[in-house]
Amino acid sequence: MHPTLIFDFDSTLVSLESLDELANIALDGNPDREDIVKELVRITDLGMEGKIGFAESLESRLKMFSANRGHVEKLTGLLRDSLSASVLRNTEFLKNNADRIYVISGGFSDYIQPVVAEICLLPENVLANKFVFDGEGRINGHDKSLLLAQDNGKAKQVAAMKLEGPVYIIGDGYTDFQIKAQGEADRFVAFTENIERPNVIAEADDVVKDFDELLELEFIRSL
Ligand SMILES: [Mg+2]
Repeated sequence: MHPTLIFDFDSTLVSLESLDELANIALDGNPDREDIVKELVRITDLGMEGKIGFAESLESRLKMFSANRGHVEKLTGLLRDSLSASVLRNTEFLKNNADRIYVISGGFSDYIQPVVAEICLLPENVLANKFVFDGEGRINGHDKSLLLAQDNGKAKQVAAMKLEGPVYIIGDGYTDFQIKAQGEADRFVAFTENIERPNVIAEADDVVKDFDELLELEFIRSL
């Protein structure tokens, strides 16, 4: 059976939370930027700790700022420069296993695809949300028909993929653990290089401080 590795994006493959950073970029020059971003980070954390549903968290965060294609391009550049250090050290592993690695994120394909291409992952193996742009290139919402836009979206997405063989999840957030909690994965590895969330760590089968430690785990070594 062919095992599948599923990586989270925000605070796992990259060190940042992308939507918080998009707001930071889009609100450049806005006198209320600091307060708005602070509130946004608070809502992101509530979501990652499992205290509010993802659909509600995403919707309320996108309403807090207006961004356009130029801002998304800037964000893509920032994320390219913010790939987790230990991930960059191990692109050989990612390249050699690219066909069995998926990136599943509540973030947006618009910037995740170009960023993961830098670390030899396949853009077609990125499953994430999509912005909806208006005629002037401004974001005026997101595609609500996607499974990842829903509560428990990651678990729903993995279920829809009907993967054969063991499924391993690597991430920092509660939504990553939920994939296993819903019975859609065999193992959940908490990745703490960028952030340690105690209530996520408490649920994990393994806890790794970086990608080097991940590669030492028995189930990875036996791939
Ligand atoms: Mg994350």
